Amino acid sequence: MTSSATVPASSRQLMTELQSVGLRLQDPTAGAASRRGGAGPSDHKAVTIDGVTIMVPVHTSTAWHSPFVAQAPDGTGRSALMRGTIPIASISFPKAPRFYALQTLEGIPYSHIATLHGADVLATTVLQTCIRYESRKKTCKFCSIGQSLAAGRTVARKTPEQLAEVARAAVLLDGVRHMVLTTGTPPTPDRGAAILCESAFAIRAAVDLPIQAQCEPPDDDRWFERMKAAGIDTLGMHLEVVTPAVRERIMPGKASVPLSRYMESFKAAVAVFGRGQVSTYILAGLGDTAEAILSISRELIELGVYPFVVPFVPISGTPLEDHPAPSPAFMQSILQPLGAMLNAAGMRSSDIKAGCGKCGACSSLATYEREAALAADGATS
Ligand code: SF4
Repeated sequence: MTSSATVPASSRQLMTELQSVGLRLQDPTAGAASRRGGAGPSDHKAVTIDGVTIMVPVHTSTAWHSPFVAQAPDGTGRSALMRGTIPIASISFPKAPRFYALQTLEGIPYSHIATLHGADVLATTVLQTCIRYESRKKTCKFCSIGQSLAAGRTVARKTPEQLAEVARAAVLLDGVRHMVLTTGTPPTPDRGAAILCESAFAIRAAVDLPIQAQCEPPDDDRWFERMKAAGIDTLGMHLEVVTPAVRERIMPGKASVPLSRYMESFKAAVAVFGRGQVSTYILAGLGDTAEAILSISRELIELGVYPFVVPFVPISGTPLEDHPAPSPAFMQSILQPLGAMLNAAGMRSSDIKAGCGKCGACSSLATYEREAALAADGATS
């Protein structure tokens, strides 16, 4: 979430609702282009409410039936957000970044190499192919990593030079403040760590930009030292779902890496990157109970890992496109106690140097963190 401002309870509630039920757009061309396909969550558009930028589903079947409609922007770029026929808020859409107008000497548009996420994050999937995606039986059912490649919106393997060129332009032209390097999982035991190291090294040689790398746990914990030495500031290793039976059902390939392996890797990674600088993405709404997510989050926080819980977005074209998105009440039943847990542990999204936990645009978790901090301040004053 791209602001440290506290937001009123009504806006926090609205953000949680919008991220669950999505938004219909009267003018789909308003602001920066929405994101379709790719690794991880997708089919979103960046929306700014009360100075906070969040990603809101706009291309999902849930969003097509959403009670929320954004009217076409007025002359100042602001849109009325309607619930049915009642205007409830004024919102805006971050503009398309200037670096999107550029291309490499070979003619590859910069936007095919990396994209703007939220308001100030540059994100890319370095390797757009994945061993988990090769077999229908093993694929993670929520993921659309192959879609943007098939649609010609990206390139399969971004070279370190291309990434450095685009990162430099995005910093200079658009004031991008941190970068996310994710990857499909290659068939090598390092799980993509080597590619992420090469990429980060080239980017950091070109521009001063904090970087988060994201991959499955590598076979050898020494990769964490190498990643840090290459200029990677924070690491994401994403559990996605947490209950063994749900892992088997939703991501049969990735479930072959047991939770215990993730926990060992988290411990080793925190020793290198520091407490709160290792995070994990958890998609709520795929079958894990709120208690299961909160229980593992407690363990993760104890290890020094930031559990970034986001509402599952059913992406068109994936096996889960008709799976319902989680209700706002379910999300609140997780995010409120999780915000309090994080606050009690002194772990703040704003202290993360780079990456999804810092950006926060895919979840309203950070607003619950700040609510918990305010409540705790009130109790002690
Ligand atoms: S939270 Fe991560 S995936 Fe979501 S918009 Fe921010 S950088 Fe992108």
